[in-house]
Amino acid sequence: MRRGQRAKRGSRMGEMLLREVMLYQELVGAVGERWVSREEAERTSYAKDYSWLGRTWVRKGWKVPLPDYVVWPGSTEEVARVLRIANRYKVPVVPYCGGAGVQGGTLPIYGGIILDVKRMDRVLEIDEANGTVTAQAGIIGQNLEWALNQRGLTLAHIPQSAYCSGLGGFLATRSAGVLSTRYGKITDMVLGMEVVLPQGEVVRFRPVPESAAGPDLKRLFLGSEGTLGVITEATLAVHPLPECRRFRGVAFPDTATGLEAARQIMRRGLRPAAMRLSDELESLFLYKRAGALMVWCFDGFAAQVEAEEGEALRLALALGGEDLGPEPGEDWWEHRYTSAYPTAENLLLKSEEGWTIGTVIDTAGTFDYLRAVHGKMSQALSRYEGLLFAAHFSHWYPTGGMMYPYVLCMGAPDDERAADLYFRIQRDALRVILDLGGTINHHHGVGLTLGEFMAEEFGAAFATLQAIKRLLDPHNIMNPGKLGFEGREA
Ligand SMILES: Cc1cc2nc3c(=O)[nH]c(=O)nc-3n(C[C@H](O)[C@H](O)[C@H](O)COP(=O)(O)OP(=O)(O)OC[C@H]3O[C@@H](n4cnc5c(N)ncnc54)[C@H](O)[C@@H]3O)c2cc1C
Repeated sequence: MRRGQRAKRGSRMGEMLLREVMLYQELVGAVGERWVSREEAERTSYAKDYSWLGRTWVRKGWKVPLPDYVVWPGSTEEVARVLRIANRYKVPVVPYCGGAGVQGGTLPIYGGIILDVKRMDRVLEIDEANGTVTAQAGIIGQNLEWALNQRGLTLAHIPQSAYCSGLGGFLATRSAGVLSTRYGKITDMVLGMEVVLPQGEVVRFRPVPESAAGPDLKRLFLGSEGTLGVITEATLAVHPLPECRRFRGVAFPDTATGLEAARQIMRRGLRPAAMRLSDELESLFLYKRAGALMVWCFDGFAAQVEAEEGEALRLALALGGEDLGPEPGEDWWEHRYTSAYPTAENLLLKSEEGWTIGTVIDTAGTFDYLRAVHGKMSQALSRYEGLLFAAHFSHWYPTGGMMYPYVLCMGAPDDERAADLYFRIQRDALRVILDLGGTINHHHGVGLTLGEFMAEEFGAAFATLQAIKRLLDPHNIMNPGKLGFEGREA
């Protein structure tokens, strides 16, 4: 290398070093030294989420992209300061709440700053008379629920990850709890919200039950997965704790009959808090029974539960369902958390034959769609040797519901080819979903793993979404490369 070139490279390195020192100092100035970390252990622990990809990286000890900094802001103003700094230095920012996302949404693929909101975890106000709660975005779901329970209230947003995911993550991924059929998804519960836009401006949406003041702009940030700003606070609707909660199991001869029962129950105007139908394979695996087993839960005041459950049972029995009494439902409720843990072992088993690949492909559509997608997806994936396809249906609406397939592929190769297989299986499953007109995801979001399907899901409207992203985030600092948006130069 010639002397001139060496000098140029030396001065470039000096510039980069200086820039790094300055960025660090500015971050320290924004949130305090204690709340900025460059420690490798810290950066490594923030480099994964609960996606198969993220966990595989860690379990196999592969070298993964690390964030350069982890920052824990303590207030909305501190979040705004960090975003202004990131804009000046043009470094990526990945908002982070519980880190329990399953689509690679928090993976820091371009390095930069992980902005963990969990220090902002206060319940700001519980308004019993109006039935609302206002809380900061970093509060863990179960802590919020406990705070409400002490006042005789419930948010009734109970995802299986309630203990390890938080309000900001729920809103940013349009999450659904197990009681969503009666109480709605988190998006149905939001009245008002505070968001820090990518360039540091703070916007607040009024906490009103409904409005006709133009388009509902706050909804743009629901499901935005950290790509359009940082959600810092929200006001949500809450309910009195139910006076009574009743469970039951009903066995149907097959999945199609179970789906028809669910359709009739929803079309009749009944609102079970939860209604979970396992297909034949899942019924065999979970309940050791042939046929398709449904468990449900009705809650509310006693007379209402009595009437609603009685009518649901009448419809189910008329279709040839067998009443199994309360036990299967109570058992499901009691084990609603434990069945998902330990997640690593669920999603990534090492067996004699090799590794297991597990995908998250929950989809939603009308009742017709649910019937079709189950058969067609199972058929499309049957070409993979060692692949197990089982599914359950839950999160119902008057017009349809959600199917959550478990796709486990035993004997996957124990190296990088596993990722290739994972994406091939996912693409085949998503092809079926898109061709049948369903949505690519019901409640886990898009993140990194489903980004490639966003253009097809949105059609021509995706260009509008991309234009909004460019307008709000001209330097593309907010979670680049997620939701199907543009990445950055590596
Ligand atoms: C065992 C297990 C069970 C699960 N069960 C369910 C379930 O029943 N229902 C369900 O819906 N999901 C479930 N999930 C998925 C996951 O918990 C949800 O996607 C959850 O909503 C993510 O919340 P989080 O706090 O962990 O978010 P994170 O993983 O921290 O973040 C998820 C995404 O949101 C963005 N984000 C986080 N905070 C903010 C913020 N303040 N502002 C802007 N963007 C932000 C991140 O950048 C990322 O893109 C489960 C996951 C696991 C591991």
